[in-house]
Amino acid sequence: MQDFAALIRAVPDFPSPGVMFRDVTPLLADAGAFARCIDALAEPWQGSGVQAVGGIEARGFIFGAALAQKLHAGFVPLRKPGKLPPPVVSVDYQLEYGSDRLQAQRDALKPGERVLLVDDVLATGGTLAAARLLVEQLGAELVGASVVIELPGLQGRDRWRGDKPLHSLLRY
Ligand code: AMP
Repeated sequence: MQDFAALIRAVPDFPSPGVMFRDVTPLLADAGAFARCIDALAEPWQGSGVQAVGGIEARGFIFGAALAQKLHAGFVPLRKPGKLPPPVVSVDYQLEYGSDRLQAQRDALKPGERVLLVDDVLATGGTLAAARLLVEQLGAELVGASVVIELPGLQGRDRWRGDKPLHSLLRY
């Protein structure tokens, strides 16, 4: 287990009953732990020619931007609807109750650009699968994805097509 795991707080019944929220803010507040976490996220991708990191709103922005710097890559925000100025492309995806939408700017990625996706938590996998579809819609080349935390009980990995690597640092 990575040492920075001790700085991730488990908050029961947040934001709704039955959810064990994984709070990464204490990890982000610790300079050394945050740096070690970014090093660990970067490690599998060194030398893989990542040109852009796609970070998923909101905590994926924090890890993704730092990781982009580490990999000498650009950063592309993948956002909730209505946040990015047009023109945008959108992907709708199912949540446990209802649906949500993820958007990217239409010119955010060039065709064939090598993209790594990043988020804080992989839960049911719907968000990451939608992010992947966005990258594919833009004609970019997906290299893979990294998350800090995977919740294997929710089987998010089953929604990830296995032809591209999906790395997680911690599993709860
Ligand atoms: P999912 O689409 O179900 O894989 O959910 C992943 C998204 O929801 C990520 O962007 C996470 O930030 C957030 N998320 C889901 N479950 C949790 C959790 N238990 N703790 C913190 N964030 C979560």
